Amino acid sequence: MAKRDYYDILGVPKNASEDDIKKAYRKLAMKHHPDRNQGDGAKAAEEKFKEAKEAYEMLSDAQKRAAYDQYGHAGVDPSMGAGRGGGGPDGFGGFAEAFGDIFGDIFGGAGGGRGGRGGGQQVYRGSDLSYAMEISLEEAAFGKDTQIRVPSWESCDTCHGSGAKPGTSAKTCPTCNGSGTVHLRQGFFSIQQTCPHCHGSGKIIPEPCTACNGAGKIKKQKTLEVKIPAGINEGMRIRSAGNGEPGTNGGPPGDLYIEIRVKAHDIFERDGDDLHCSVPVGLTTAALGGTIEVPTLGSKAEIELPEGTQHGKTFRLRGKGIKGLRSSYPGDLYCHVAVETPVKITEHQRKLLKELDESFKKGGERHSPNAKSWTDRVKDLFK
Ligand SMILES: [Zn+2]
Ligand SMILES: [Zn+2]
Repeated sequence: MAKRDYYDILGVPKNASEDDIKKAYRKLAMKHHPDRNQGDGAKAAEEKFKEAKEAYEMLSDAQKRAAYDQYGHAGVDPSMGAGRGGGGPDGFGGFAEAFGDIFGDIFGGAGGGRGGRGGGQQVYRGSDLSYAMEISLEEAAFGKDTQIRVPSWESCDTCHGSGAKPGTSAKTCPTCNGSGTVHLRQGFFSIQQTCPHCHGSGKIIPEPCTACNGAGKIKKQKTLEVKIPAGINEGMRIRSAGNGEPGTNGGPPGDLYIEIRVKAHDIFERDGDDLHCSVPVGLTTAALGGTIEVPTLGSKAEIELPEGTQHGKTFRLRGKGIKGLRSSYPGDLYCHVAVETPVKITEHQRKLLKELDESFKKGGERHSPNAKSWTDRVKDLFK
């Protein structure tokens, strides 16, 4: 279905003033808002509401409106975000949010952002923080106790957390009388919104503290002990509760998430709980067989190579992998044999190899386990 024209959606002419656009949107938004359309017509109303919201967001922004006037829908991309933030995953948030920018204008200040609909001061949980930590494969396998430096916020020494310049104090917000919310009557119903003057705190600071710019807190650093559990893997996150940003108006702090990155290892590759490594084996050792030493994570082990070991042969060392975070047993270590062809040979070695070659040729195919089946398959190709 072709996208409807934004002006048609709002029912305004192309030369409509900002005010007309705002009025038209408000009318439509009230008519179609999901809070007022339950039951049969809910789905259609929701679509209409979103459509109107998008049209308004585009046409109320002078730059976007100009691009739309010139190029139509191709000139603007609503998925690029209209900069309003918020909104649920379904595209609309609470009632106050949908009206935030309009009422922000009415009050002559910036909108207070997403408002809950409860009474009293708006309480916000602090943001979560994320910290990327790079560890070695050994540390991932065996765990590690470490320390990290993370931001922390301390009460401002100068104003003792009040945010007001010493000798002055915060005052009750005159716009909301300290409640942090304001009510707006629109015809038959009333809308509650975060007070745009005090942003929900219920207080205003006439003379802010210069040390903290009125925030009452100062960003610092603190050292945090972190216990990385054995078996952790790339991309896993460790949650450190309450170590995120502080909340607002007594809201709880956010959490800190430590994201694990495991550095590439020189020898081992990890696949779940299993480890893989490549083991170079000399030509003669592969032919004669013998005991070779292989590294394991944090130790070493031995493998008995049988006579005539082929390139690519895999030996499994049970339990020499990693015990995953939620595993009962450790995984295995797979050693992949990589037979090496000798290089920089001496005249003497060349002579020996030539002799050896003559001897193999006399013996025929029985010395080359793969050659016969390979030759047969090549013949089949040209039949
Ligand atoms: Zn201060
Ligand atoms: Zn207020």
